[in-house]
Amino acid sequence: MEKMLDRREFLKLAGLGGVVFLSGLAGCSSMANRSEGDVFYFVQLSDSHWGFNGPKVNPDAGGTLQKAVAAVNSLTQPPDFIVFTGDLTHTTDDPLERRKRLAEFRGIVSELKVKSVHFMPGEHDASLDHGEAYQEFFGKTYYTFDHKGVHFIVLDNVSDPTASIGDVQLQWLAADLNALSNDADIVVFAHRPLFDLYPQWDWATRDGDKVLALLMPYANVTVFYGHIHQENHHMTGHIAHHSAKSLIFPLPAPGSQPKRTPLPWDATQPYKGLGYRDVEVDAQKAEYRITELPIVQG
Ligand SMILES: [Zn+2]
Repeated sequence: MEKMLDRREFLKLAGLGGVVFLSGLAGCSSMANRSEGDVFYFVQLSDSHWGFNGPKVNPDAGGTLQKAVAAVNSLTQPPDFIVFTGDLTHTTDDPLERRKRLAEFRGIVSELKVKSVHFMPGEHDASLDHGEAYQEFFGKTYYTFDHKGVHFIVLDNVSDPTASIGDVQLQWLAADLNALSNDADIVVFAHRPLFDLYPQWDWATRDGDKVLALLMPYANVTVFYGHIHQENHHMTGHIAHHSAKSLIFPLPAPGSQPKRTPLPWDATQPYKGLGYRDVEVDAQKAEYRITELPIVQG
């Protein structure tokens, strides 16, 4: 606990405000059954698009991911784990080049000084070959893991090029949820948003409504995703959805301009709009404190 306070003090001194998002039913009587002290934090990294080349968008495309790794490694207290929410690499039609990018990406993030890193693909990694190359490097595209009383569910809404989860995965999800109590702490990681944020820009999951319907009976569900290269906080009923910034270029706000073109690099404020996120979890309260962190300290 003392260490956790040190960490929060550090974030405060660095001038980085945290935003608290409450999920679920605070004060629910069954909360009393939970054990004390289940406070930990994880880091969400997203959308590094390794292999992207566009000097006007990011002249340091070959060095930004390494800077993010260094930034995470310099945190005063290492996170319990890191989750990388997809688009690890930038898309390519060439299967050999795709594997080269995945291998290079894996080499760079192997420098992260954290015991466990959980990966998932984005459509740039997986939609052209249904996740074949991705699985050679990182294994399953959807899975679950448990950590200190929280059930984490990683979903794949990218390997199917129609941006669907599909019936096989939906049945798997239903069976997984079935084993949980209705007040379980559930965190879902996905690449695309599970709700219709802006379908015209591919900012939606075709059968995301079916996922949300399965999650609805559970009181404490929070979703973290990527894909849209900016922060967005949205509620569907009692379920909170939080998108993360990118590690390569920011995208415009949903529908704010005719085309979904990246925002240009600003030489006076390099790396502006890029970043990663620190999520402090209080499992007992089902509370998530989000702090957005820059890749390079200004
Ligand atoms: Zn994407």
